[in-house]
Amino acid sequence: MNIDDSKSNITNQDVEIERVKCLIIGSGPAGYTAAIYAARANLSPVMYEGLQPGGQLTTTTEVENFPGYPQGVTGPEMMEELKAQAIRFGTDVRWGLATKVDFSGPVHKVWIDDKKIVESEVVILATGATAKYLGIEDEKKYAGSGVSACATCDGFFYRGKDVAVVGGGDTAAEEAIYLAGLVNKVYLIVRRNELRASKVMQERVFRTKNIEVLWEHQTKGLLGDGVVEGALLWKKKGTLEEEEVTIKIDGFFLAIGHQPNSDFVKDFIDTDEVGYVKTIPGTSKTNVAGVFACGDVQDSVYRQAVTAAGTGCMAAIDAERYLSEKHS
Ligand code: NDP
Repeated sequence: MNIDDSKSNITNQDVEIERVKCLIIGSGPAGYTAAIYAARANLSPVMYEGLQPGGQLTTTTEVENFPGYPQGVTGPEMMEELKAQAIRFGTDVRWGLATKVDFSGPVHKVWIDDKKIVESEVVILATGATAKYLGIEDEKKYAGSGVSACATCDGFFYRGKDVAVVGGGDTAAEEAIYLAGLVNKVYLIVRRNELRASKVMQERVFRTKNIEVLWEHQTKGLLGDGVVEGALLWKKKGTLEEEEVTIKIDGFFLAIGHQPNSDFVKDFIDTDEVGYVKTIPGTSKTNVAGVFACGDVQDSVYRQAVTAAGTGCMAAIDAERYLSEKHS
């Protein structure tokens, strides 16, 4: 196929097959930025938005650290603007979830909702990562009203207040330390009697005066009238009994890990042990020619909207160069 060919549809038995020039999977800041660049490079990108159109930012309230918004912007508003910008240059944004891929041939195949196959020479993976939640009902009840999975995004709103961070890994340690610089007091709720975090992070936690570690505590529920005002915890007492503990907090931060949304590509794309897509350092290239990754699905370190957008730009440029080299 010539890369200038327009999209084509072939119906094969029950499965509709569509050929496109550039397929983007996922619609967070990485996906939309990739779309803006790809569309402006005449790649006519087709984007499938995925389960959570707009990505993780649609679950935050105010975004104050994305350059260009001096007064801040709400997460959903920012994503609408990114979407409008991608559409303005011709991105075809569609509902749908990529469920399966076949990256074994020169043209990559992606199944959408297990019904339709989209074929494309270049695929940009921008499926993000999903913060893990404890699974208690109150996390949903107080979503956006005191419950957050991103201290860098939301910590600022709790200046001078008391908050809790749940988790014992490096993320929890990092978030607790970050928050300790902003808030009055941080409770670090740890389910075991030790931290999983690296020694250096542990030492920083222990050195920080306004972090109190609540060892062997777990969360039962959240308290408050419309917004979080406290948490109900439990701690094992002996073998049978448990002791209930209430803490007064305004913010409840989850830091029990993220799961990159890469399961559907794992048969073809190299990932690390957690599932983050491996890219060639300094590029968005994966182990499969023509498949690029950007945003949180390949970033276990920074996980910020602005870094996701930056890698989205890289993916579109890498995709464009790949196609022009292939067809020159
Ligand atoms: P981890 O999986 O390392 O840690 C998750 C933590 O959450 C563990 O302490 C775990 O407890 C706890 N946890 C999990 N489920 C629950 C639950 N249901 N209730 C209570 N606690 C729970 O995830 P991280 O996000 O911290 O780190 C992911 C990776 O990223 C790691 O490799 C880490 O080193 C790396 N990282 C590196 C950073 C850096 O170098 N600056 C910063 C952040 C992350 P338990 O220990 O009992 O299993």
